[in-house]
Amino acid sequence: MKSIPFFDDRHPVRTVFTNIADCQSHPNWQSIETRNALLREYLNASIGQIVYACQTHSSSVLVVTDKNVGDLGRLEEDQILEVGGFDAMVTALPKTMLCIHTADCLPLFLYDPQKNVAAIAHCGWRGICGRIASNAIGVMAERFGSDPTQILAAFGPGICEECYEVGSELKDAFAERFSTDEVESFFRPKRDGKFLLDLRKAAMRDLLRSGIRPENVHDEEICTYESKDYPSCRRVGYRIDPRMQMFSGIALT
Ligand SMILES: [Zn+2]
Repeated sequence: MKSIPFFDDRHPVRTVFTNIADCQSHPNWQSIETRNALLREYLNASIGQIVYACQTHSSSVLVVTDKNVGDLGRLEEDQILEVGGFDAMVTALPKTMLCIHTADCLPLFLYDPQKNVAAIAHCGWRGICGRIASNAIGVMAERFGSDPTQILAAFGPGICEECYEVGSELKDAFAERFSTDEVESFFRPKRDGKFLLDLRKAAMRDLLRSGIRPENVHDEEICTYESKDYPSCRRVGYRIDPRMQMFSGIALT
């Protein structure tokens, strides 16, 4: 497990992302109770609820409050929120970890040090195309009064622009939501009619458009496809069980 020092070293917030060695470190890693215990142990901080998104490659954002966590079930215990259709979560609740899983898609961590609000987003191509990053920032601004120029952002490990080969249908999808110049900068043509898609660049464009300052964006610069330390659906050639994917979490302390 690793944290993002860009956040943790300077602010009352804790971040974590896991790797393949973590999955192999405990025979019961797939059990949510075991995994949560290991996450808490690593963070060495008081973390209560750990909330997992039930991801659907949407671009919708859930605000996690005492009330909705309670309504969905057991406030005192860990659970996977089973309300489908969102891939980003925002909270101002302390000691509540928001968690997503990925295996090539890009995890995006967000933190507003002024209002003390945290968010996390699962950024696959569909989510980025649907502007999940600016959707999350919009929710932070509307619900909690966050000023986008003060929000910090960080990309965790995800597939890089050299490794993510896609078909032209993805370019067509982005063309409906981004300008021609932007789309041309995200997609690099290959000889065989395929393209290389730069997920980070597309997500970055969405962040900047919503008012985030470039100097407030950090990138771990890890490619999940190239690094053998991280799960990659593309590298193994099949969809990895979500419980064995990479978990990324953020919590206010
Ligand atoms: Zn790569």
